[in-house]
This record gives sequence, C-alpha cells and structure tokens, in this order.
Amino acid sequence: TDGGETSPVAGDADDRAHAARTVAIEVAALRKSFGELAVLKGIDLTVRAGEVVCVIGPSGSGKSTLLRCVNLLEEPTSGTVRVAGTEVTGPDVDLDQVRRRIGMVFQAFNLFPHLTVLGNLTIAQRRVLRRGKEEAEDVARSNLRRVGLTEKEGSYPAPLSGGQQQRVAIARALSMGPELMLFDEPTSALDPELVGDVLAVMRRLADEGMTMLVVTHEMSFAREVADRVVFMDDGVIVEEGPPRQLIGEPRLARTRAFLSRVL
Ligand code: ADP
Ligand code: MG
Repeated sequence: TDGGETSPVAGDADDRAHAARTVAIEVAALRKSFGELAVLKGIDLTVRAGEVVCVIGPSGSGKSTLLRCVNLLEEPTSGTVRVAGTEVTGPDVDLDQVRRRIGMVFQAFNLFPHLTVLGNLTIAQRRVLRRGKEEAEDVARSNLRRVGLTEKEGSYPAPLSGGQQQRVAIARALSMGPELMLFDEPTSALDPELVGDVLAVMRRLADEGMTMLVVTHEMSFAREVADRVVFMDDGVIVEEGPPRQLIGEPRLARTRAFLSRVL
C-alpha cells in the first residue's frame, strides 16, 4: 500500500483498488492567504488517475482558490502541490509546462470573440505546442466531435448558446492534451435548460477515464459521476467520502446544514 491515505469511509476492496492507482494530484498542507485573509487553512487532498472528485461548499469557502493553486494561477503561501509526481510548488518549475498538463474550464467561457470556433481550438496548440495548422485542426475537429459541435467549427462564439460556448471551451482545453482537467463551476453561468448538455459532455469525459477535479453545485452530477465528494467550508476540508455517503448520510452537522440548503 502507499501508507493508507485512502478514504476512511470506503470499503477495504475499494481502498485497495483506489490505492493502486497513480496519484494525479497531491495537495499537502496547502495554505493560501491574501494579505491578512487566510483563505486556505491547510488542505490535504489526493486525486488519483482516472478519478472524478467533486468539491462542494458555500461561496467564499476557498474552492476556486484551491483549483487556482493546483494549476498555479495562484501561488500557495505554504504547503505543496504535486501533479503526476512533479512538485509544481518547487523552486525551478516551468509554470507553462505545468499548466500545459492541466486543462481548466471556468464559469465564464473566456473564448476569443474575434476567432472562429476552430480558431479558438487551434491558437494555443499552434503557439504553445508549436503544432502545424493541419495537425492542430485535426485535433480540434476530433475534440469538437467529442463535445457534439462538429457543425459549429466555422461559427464565431457570439451567436452560440452559453452551453455551446462552454462545450467549445471544454474542447479547447482538451485540444491541449491535458493529463487532468479542473472545472470551476462550469455550469453556474448557464440557463437551466443548457446545463444538461455540458454535464453530459463532462460525464462522457469521466467515462473515458479523464482525471477530473470539479467544483460544482450540481448535486445530481456529483452523486452520479464523482468517485469522491469533498465538502469545503471556511478554508478547510470538513468532510469527504463517496457521494452516496457524503451526500446521502453526511456525518457532520456542518455538512448536513450545507446540504440542506442546496438539495
Ligand atoms: P469560492 O470559490 O469557494 O467561492 P474563493 O476561493 O473564490 O471561494 O474565495 C475565497 C475567499 O478568498 C473569498 O473571501 C474571496 O473574497 C477571497 N479571495 C479570492 N481571491 C482573492 C484575491 N485575489 N485577492 C483577495 N481575496 C481573494
Ligand atoms: Mg468559486
């Protein structure tokens, strides 16, 4: 075994299967303060290859800051973050190289308005990964197919629905060939009728074995897709476990109080 850092609530067989997988993200004793404001107060979290971990918790609890520390959009105040064995918080880390391995999808889609869908999907491949036009377009088209938007490659972002724009943003992240994907409330800005299409794409990605760390308020997604759910409050992980346990039978009053507000 690897020293027993597995979920305390899973069964023995689950524990062993879980421990056998490669560690994709390892966050240890992570703290982040903005001036006097302590936002992350000692976070320990391990995500293994192929796992889907959903992070839930009230607004302001530090969920976005945690994701941003994982891909170094924020510099941790102390503690370590490892991505696939590389300590990304170390002194000689190539930030661009780290970020290239991590796909991130935000609440706001952040597409380039002056580029077509295909242009949005190829620009970073060409500039950052130095792929040629033809290869970049092949990769882009195969990822557009994955998100069900093949017919939109020539469109500009503006006329697309929010759900379509978010699926383009997911395809853009996938086109960089990331080892893992971070999602920060990817459906929170969408009209309710558009949420399902985006969640369906994420569900398919999970089924394909993508490692995913997902901040979400979509409890049915967490319940059905997550291997583990992490409840954060006030800068700490209060409780974590498999969804049926954490959402279904939370152990702590703080978790129950939060869930009773969102369910
Ligand atoms: P969540 O995503 O759970 O809503 P955040 O991680 O966005 O929480 O924010 C946690 C706290 O950190 C909030 O009080 C927020 O105002 C503060 N915060 C986040 N980013 C910054 C920043 N760049 N500068 C100062 N305070 C910040
Ligand atoms: Mg947030």
